[in-house]
Amino acid sequence: MYVCGPTVYDLSHIGHARSAVAFDVVYRYLKYKGFRVKYTRNYTDIDDKIINRANKDGVAWNEISERYIKAFDEDMAALGVELPNFRPKATETIQEMIGVIQALIDKGFAYVLDGDVYYSVRKFNGYGKLSGKNIEELEAGARVEVDERKEDPLDFALWKASKPGEPWWESPWGKGRPGWHIECSAMSQKFLGETIDIHGGGKDLIFPHHENEIAQSEGATGKPFVRYWLHNGFVNIEKEKMSKSLGNILAIRDALNNYSFEAVRLFLISSHYRSPIDYSPDALREAEVALERYYRTLERMEKDWPDIVNAKVNEERKKQRMQRIINAMDDDFNTAYAAGFIFEEVNTANRLMDSAKTLGTNELEQVLPVIKAIFKEAGSFLGVFHRRPEEYFAEKKGNLKVSEEEIARLVLERSGAKKDKDFKKADEIRKELEEKGVLLEDTPKGTVWRMKI
Ligand SMILES: [Zn+2]
Ligand SMILES: [Zn+2]
Repeated sequence: MYVCGPTVYDLSHIGHARSAVAFDVVYRYLKYKGFRVKYTRNYTDIDDKIINRANKDGVAWNEISERYIKAFDEDMAALGVELPNFRPKATETIQEMIGVIQALIDKGFAYVLDGDVYYSVRKFNGYGKLSGKNIEELEAGARVEVDERKEDPLDFALWKASKPGEPWWESPWGKGRPGWHIECSAMSQKFLGETIDIHGGGKDLIFPHHENEIAQSEGATGKPFVRYWLHNGFVNIEKEKMSKSLGNILAIRDALNNYSFEAVRLFLISSHYRSPIDYSPDALREAEVALERYYRTLERMEKDWPDIVNAKVNEERKKQRMQRIINAMDDDFNTAYAAGFIFEEVNTANRLMDSAKTLGTNELEQVLPVIKAIFKEAGSFLGVFHRRPEEYFAEKKGNLKVSEEEIARLVLERSGAKKDKDFKKADEIRKELEEKGVLLEDTPKGTVWRMKI
């Protein structure tokens, strides 16, 4: 499995998070199903955007790429994304790129022009087969070309002769650097071989990037490049397309400042990976509320019914109950259904615990351990629902704007005020805590507090 990684010239945004999480789930699920998976995700660390950014900041181009590779890795770790087996940088694969380009020249798919090398799109019969685009239509729609030396406006650069002040590598055609598309053909072949099972990326990559990758790889090897193409949909921000001009690009780390990583993941997997999704504070809060409910339920199961919940799991029953989640995931990784089924199990668990006093614990004994096992199993490939409740609540407490000692002191002070019938003061303390994100609840056993979401 090969997934197109980021061009590292800026902080990664929520669209990158979506792609990374979608393919993280694919990777985890394939392993869960018993496949041995070799997963490669690259860094595009040489590109016009990187060079422009370096010129703007007045630093070396590789300082920019190193900085944003580090930032990307931090964001992925914060999102709980597992590391792919191979994470090559484009600049480490230049020799392999030169090899593919040479093969394309030798086979008549590419031509050299003053130190540049171009792919001759019309020479490749299958061009357009992934995107469904027709070559005549493309030709008609092609912009007036700046570079009139090209044989055909559709032809794209495999190798670019070096311009003054730009980074370069030696090649049979002179000093230069690779075009973007050739990177992935070369890295995919280097780490995974000529034909691979799965190639993933955002929908925006279908054309021209992936169309060009096919033309390059199949032109050079004469073999099929990819068996399955998986493309994730866009993330809109409050119904608007994310764009520089609208100034609404949401960095992953900004989202993680406001919401737990698990809520961000749950939001991302709550729609099918191919459909577009709409990021909004409401949607994220909804995910956070759902998670809170999930962890409260798990906590309740373990605290109130420890013997039952930790009893030996009936494997046959678990398999049966897990099946609908498996069916959903087997159907093009339908994580939305899978997560929905988890919340149905949450409801079932609560209903059974609520009615145990009146109806007895028979059903509870049969079902509760199985539900807990399902949480763990599905959590392992969804990358959500897989923590201990203590861990989840501790993270939330870590985000509180007030210390636990301070909360305890204020709760005590409020109890005193209530005893003295100073309800005005008691109410003020409650409000003060609420403003700091803490909700108080008076129970027969005394006052308990929890975090507001
Ligand atoms: Zn790709
Ligand atoms: Zn790519």
